[in-house]
Parts: sequence; structure tokens; C-alpha cells
Amino acid sequence: MIKGSCLCGAVKFEISGEPSSLSYCHCSRCRKAAGIFSAVLIGKADDLKVVAGQEKIAKVPTGPEWKLERCFCKECGTSLGDMVAGDIYVVAASALDDDPGIRPTVHIHTGSKPDWYQIDDKLQKFVGDYVSEE
Ligand SMILES: [Zn+2]
Ligand SMILES: [Zn+2]
Repeated sequence: MIKGSCLCGAVKFEISGEPSSLSYCHCSRCRKAAGIFSAVLIGKADDLKVVAGQEKIAKVPTGPEWKLERCFCKECGTSLGDMVAGDIYVVAASALDDDPGIRPTVHIHTGSKPDWYQIDDKLQKFVGDYVSEE
């Protein structure tokens, strides 16, 4: 069981089972919502359970054709990621209280990162973005 929560503690969630990946996402959505980038934990949607504060989770539609939602705590603003997106969960690893057991392997959507932020590690990089930047 991997536990997570927001800064004020209103929202608590638990993840059962093994996450499938942990990545550093540099997409424009993560950059603006979460900071310079977001570490995103991905796994099967059924493995994610919100155990407290479901009603405190604000959902703002963003992304291609508004199919994705940025979730954050209405009380403290903690970025929670997309939570459920179709049959997967996409959780901001910054909200985890436990070690998810896996380590980041890739940087994704690096085409959207600002030039002033330099990636200095040797992890693989993928350039594409969810959102076309006009
Ligand atoms: Zn909160
Ligand atoms: Zn992202």
C-alpha cells in the first residue's frame, strides 16, 4: 500500500498493487500546475482509492479536447496530478507519503520545458507534448 495526501491533510489516497511507471513530466500542464515539472506515478486506475476528502478535490479540465483533468486540493492547492485518466491513474508523486518502490526512468514531454531549466541527468528523454503550444 502506497499512501499519499495533500499538504493540509484533507485529501488522502491509497494505491494498492504495483505502479507501472514513475516519470518526470515536463508538459505545459505539469509546468503550470505543479511547478517546473512533475514526477508522475502511473498505474491501473482500479488500484487508486481516495480514502478521505473526495469532495475537496477540485478538477480542472485541461489537455487535449479537455479530456484530462488537473486535480488539486481546494483547501491547500496541493497538486494531485490527473488522478484517474481513463483506465490509468496519474498521480503527482510529490503528494506521496510513502516510497512507491520504483524510481524515475524517463523525462517526458521535454519539448515543453523552458530553456532556462536544464536536465542534467542521463535518463532517457521524450520530446512530445499533450498540448500543442501555439
Ligand atoms: Zn489540502
Ligand atoms: Zn505533465
